[in-house]
Amino acid sequence: MTKAIGKAIKCRCPCGTSAIALERMPSVRFFCHCTICQSLYPGDYADATVTLDSNVTILTPDTITFNQYKEPPALDRGTCTECSHPVIGFIDGPKGKKFAFVPSTVLENAGPLPRPLRHVYYATRVRDIDDSLPKTNGPKMSQLMLTWPILKVALGK
Ligand SMILES: [Zn+2]
Ligand SMILES: [Zn+2]
Repeated sequence: MTKAIGKAIKCRCPCGTSAIALERMPSVRFFCHCTICQSLYPGDYADATVTLDSNVTILTPDTITFNQYKEPPALDRGTCTECSHPVIGFIDGPKGKKFAFVPSTVLENAGPLPRPLRHVYYATRVRDIDDSLPKTNGPKMSQLMLTWPILKVALGK
C-alpha cells in the first residue's frame, strides 16, 4: 500500500506498537457481544466501527497478525503482536466491496466517534447492559441488523 497519508487520521493500538491511518472517521459503530470479540477484546464486548477498506492504510504491517476465527461471517482479524489488542479487521462485502472494522479504542485520539447504533450478539453477553440502545440477540438477526448500516458505508453515506 503506497497511498499518500497526508491528512489522514493516524491511530495506534493501546501499547502504541501498531498503527493504521484512516482517510476519515468511520460512520458506523456498534457493540458486539459475540464470543470471539469477548476473547479478543479487553472487557466484556467489542466497541467497533466500520468503514470501507479503501479508507485504511496499515502503517505497521510487521506488527499486525491476521487470523480468521470460527464464527461466520469470517472476519480477517488483525491483532497487535505486542499487546494482542485488535487493530483492524477486513471482510468481503457484496459487489466486490471490502469493509474494514476498526476498534473504537484504536480511534480514541482521532476525534469524536460516531454514535453507536446497537448491541449485537447480545444473547452471548457476559452481563446485561443498561443503556437505551437496541439489543439484538441471535447471530442471524445480528448480521441482518448490521447489513443496512454497512451497505450505507459502501454507498459512501
Ligand atoms: Zn463480535
Ligand atoms: Zn499493541
